[in-house]
Amino acid sequence: MTEFEKEIDAAFQAAWHADKGGDEKWNAVMQQYGAEPLNEGLKKELLNSEMKIARGAFPIELRRVMEKIMAKHPNEAQTFQMDAKVLEYYQKIKPFSGLGDIFANAATGTQKYSQGLQKEKTKTIKCKNCGAPRLEEMQYDNCMFCGGELAESF
Ligand SMILES: [Zn+2]
Repeated sequence: MTEFEKEIDAAFQAAWHADKGGDEKWNAVMQQYGAEPLNEGLKKELLNSEMKIARGAFPIELRRVMEKIMAKHPNEAQTFQMDAKVLEYYQKIKPFSGLGDIFANAATGTQKYSQGLQKEKTKTIKCKNCGAPRLEEMQYDNCMFCGGELAESF
């Protein structure tokens, strides 16, 4: 393992083992790297949004720390897949109930399914990486949840 990989792994583990929404230890990691934490108001808003997490720091905070690590090791960072790593992290902190929802949808039959599709036809702006919808009352260019790129979808 290279120094770069070690640091990425350590940040990943620290975020994962933090309390839901982050804790003091995780804040210290962010501070050590000079990464900007989410403000408390936004954290609260995200905790109450549909993008649920069961544990760990917010993916965007891990992204910010990993960006600092990339800047420290520019050569190794060239081949680093940031979005994939953030998504891998998000899969680990997602609540298990997400699976239940998928099964519930599969069981409801086609009629309900097509009704659902009609409802979905309104234009939304979603994160390309984690699928988080943009919080309607706010305007921003990158996902508040994971830092991924936002794109229009229908
Ligand atoms: Zn996202």
